[in-house]
Amino acid sequence: MAKKYSKTKLKKFQKLIEEKMGYVHNEVETIKEGVGSATNKQGGLTPDSIYSNHMADAGTDSHEQEKNFMLMNRGSDYFGKLEIALERIKDGTFGVCNICEELIVEERMLEVPNATKCVGCKETEKLGL
Ligand SMILES: [Zn+2]
Repeated sequence: MAKKYSKTKLKKFQKLIEEKMGYVHNEVETIKEGVGSATNKQGGLTPDSIYSNHMADAGTDSHEQEKNFMLMNRGSDYFGKLEIALERIKDGTFGVCNICEELIVEERMLEVPNATKCVGCKETEKLGL
């Protein structure tokens, strides 16, 4: 019989992943709002932007925006990975190395919930053996 985590353990992982998803989702939403308002600020010529020294402001905004887009992408990337992890919990492949079929240690699964290889197999793969 293939090894896998107990139902209790899986429930614990699932809860944790769902919590993380909620957190990442909020994070991305907050950034999105920030990007939205920054775009509006740049789009319209309000009296404020004419009279304040808006060159410096615009520079900061576009830099901020770039950073936000990066964070947003990273956030949605991570969100996707967590979704995959949840799928794995459902189909029973969560926490099982897809090479040697051993259980991947719990600490690793907590850190990288979408991991599909144990540390040993990952190392071997990295060395190209
Ligand atoms: Zn392995």
